[in-house]
Amino acid sequence: MEDLAYKTKSIWENCDTKKQKELHEFAKHYVKFLSENKTERECISSALEKLQEAGFSDDLKNNKYVTVLHNKSLFAIRKGKKDLSEGFHVVTAHADSPRLDFKQNPLLETVGVAQAKTHYYGGIWKYQWLARPLAIHGVVIKQDGEVVNIVIGEKASDPVFTISDLLPHLGKEQVTQTVAKAFPAEKLNILIGHCPLAKKGKEKEENPIKAHVLQLLFKKYGIKEEDLLSAEIQVVPAGEARFVGLDSALVGGYGQDDRICVYTALKAFLEVEEPEHAICLMLWDKEEIGSEGTTGASSRFFEYCIQDVIAAWSPKTTLSKVMLHSRAISADVHAAIDPDWQELHEKQNSSIIGRGPTICKFTGSGGKYGANDAHPEYVAWLRNIFAEKEIPWQMAALGKVDHGGGGTVALFLAVYGLNTIDMGPSLLGMHSPFEISSVADIYYTKEAYKAFYQA
Ligand code: MN
Ligand code: MN
Repeated sequence: MEDLAYKTKSIWENCDTKKQKELHEFAKHYVKFLSENKTERECISSALEKLQEAGFSDDLKNNKYVTVLHNKSLFAIRKGKKDLSEGFHVVTAHADSPRLDFKQNPLLETVGVAQAKTHYYGGIWKYQWLARPLAIHGVVIKQDGEVVNIVIGEKASDPVFTISDLLPHLGKEQVTQTVAKAFPAEKLNILIGHCPLAKKGKEKEENPIKAHVLQLLFKKYGIKEEDLLSAEIQVVPAGEARFVGLDSALVGGYGQDDRICVYTALKAFLEVEEPEHAICLMLWDKEEIGSEGTTGASSRFFEYCIQDVIAAWSPKTTLSKVMLHSRAISADVHAAIDPDWQELHEKQNSSIIGRGPTICKFTGSGGKYGANDAHPEYVAWLRNIFAEKEIPWQMAALGKVDHGGGGTVALFLAVYGLNTIDMGPSLLGMHSPFEISSVADIYYTKEAYKAFYQA
């Protein structure tokens, strides 16, 4: 008799050694991408490079079009066999990740050290950023428009940076405080120097350590303190992403939310041979701070791009017709059941790492507030394409109903009326400096996006 009950199972259970090798091979390239791209700018320029290699350009006469806004968000589209009026299939992901940003007046000298003041970006547990090696990535735009790219702390020969933490001996008060109180944001200052400027004659420098830091910055990058007013310097965990576990079946690294979706969506987008519908890749910025801003999903950039493409490829159709016939996957990570915090998840409706990418029919919190909540017709359509290609996937919601929740960019796609759903791999330790994903999920997330593009 047919098994009437439904349950998911681990991808690894169906994997022979040959398949395991294939999954690892794919993950190796992902680990490299993750290690090399730690800011939205770095992700966008890396994606643009791969797209250009594959024949994409900013010429709309071409069948493969790509355009970038402010170096931080990217739109790419490829013609399908069907006319654009029959809609396109789009996968969107965000390239920004939680981090610490330099304030615009960052440098100070005090009690034997120079520090850089920061303002955190996105949702972090502040304590996770203390007492660990940190790197600096960013751009300084000089008054004359010259762009200076900065990366310090990634090469083995580079120095790193850090935020010193309070010693337990003096933490009598902190140990009784709430996390919010014990870790004030104004104490997230980066150690950036210690040795004062070498003395020249009798002249006394007021802040000789800071002066030394400024001298080093000037020598290496030709920048002055004032140039930091027009800079974006991001402080991120130093070092490469790594395989985790004796079996190397997990990947640990910074920024997997949402660069795991950026990478898998880009790979899928490039692997499709002759798509039926036009296929589109949209990479956003600013998701971690509410999707506002010119490069965030609430901006009009996506719409402008679609309008340009309609004018070039199918001028007789309308924006509304194209949008209403299109389908979207909002590709973002999901929370896997944490082995040590299982009580915060409702297990029957939670994602288990290694069981395939997770579809989240609705996000939001407190009674589905702020959710897109995809239509069951669309879920059924997706079930069918994944079943045809034997792609493992799972359905989940984020945590217990009363324990919180979260949102994604799905809402900003949904305003156009196109079918939209959240789908992406689940992570352990999301938003931490060392997020964990499954080697099996990475591969099948790419396969799932590819099947969606091909449908
Ligand atoms: Mn995300
Ligand atoms: Mn996030």
